[in-house]
Amino acid sequence: MKQSGYLRKLLFSVVIGIIFSCQTKLPFSIEIKRVNPRVMVLNFLDVNVTAVKCKSGIILIDSNRSPRLMDELKQIIEKEFGRTDFRYVINTHGHSDHSGGNQLFPDSIIIAQENCPEYMHQNPANAIYGLWYPRNHLTELTTQLGEVAKGSPEYQKLQAEIKARQILLEDLESSYQVTVPSKTFRDSLIIETGGLTLKMLYVGNAHTNHDIVVFIPEEKLVVTGDLFNDYNSFGFPINKMVDAERLVSVIDVIL
Ligand SMILES: [Zn+2]
Repeated sequence: MKQSGYLRKLLFSVVIGIIFSCQTKLPFSIEIKRVNPRVMVLNFLDVNVTAVKCKSGIILIDSNRSPRLMDELKQIIEKEFGRTDFRYVINTHGHSDHSGGNQLFPDSIIIAQENCPEYMHQNPANAIYGLWYPRNHLTELTTQLGEVAKGSPEYQKLQAEIKARQILLEDLESSYQVTVPSKTFRDSLIIETGGLTLKMLYVGNAHTNHDIVVFIPEEKLVVTGDLFNDYNSFGFPINKMVDAERLVSVIDVIL
């Protein structure tokens, strides 16, 4: 009971954050949740980027889908936080929608579980099989656009998403470079920085073979990457889970 109460408070602290959209130079908006003055979550094209401000710099958790798209988010974070010093970039896992913007942070320490670099080298987002999904998704959206009334809100929303996904595809095809983490760990890593404790815990084989959970107790913040993703999504953890015992132990540590 005590644990579930804590979890409720934790979730509540995330949900009550101020939600607003930011219009960018590009023809689409980005949803921003300002959890508190030090924490913001940006959702763009169905994936979250979390930014935390502390005395030693900005901690970024995941780097969205591509350098150009991440650059839009980076500029918002810099403006909102009034600083540009990204000290750490943490990848919850190496899927390109969580690590595609890594190359924008050459001066930051990029952290992930030790299996992540090999995965990223073997599954580059700009390889033919890596580009299959964004190309296919773009075709599906274009088909949907032909089925809705021109000028309707849904039409305009689809148009904006198509434009964003075209930019993503162009970016992956032209300027993307695989940028693997510079610091890795096997089971867990704890970093004390600027008054915060960054606890990173390896979950075991789940959504990928290198999923981690990031826990910042001072902010009552837990970032789980794609571990608790939608049931029908690619690589949903439960049906691939081979290390449930480890996942339970990690959740236990967090709670
Ligand atoms: Zn994923």
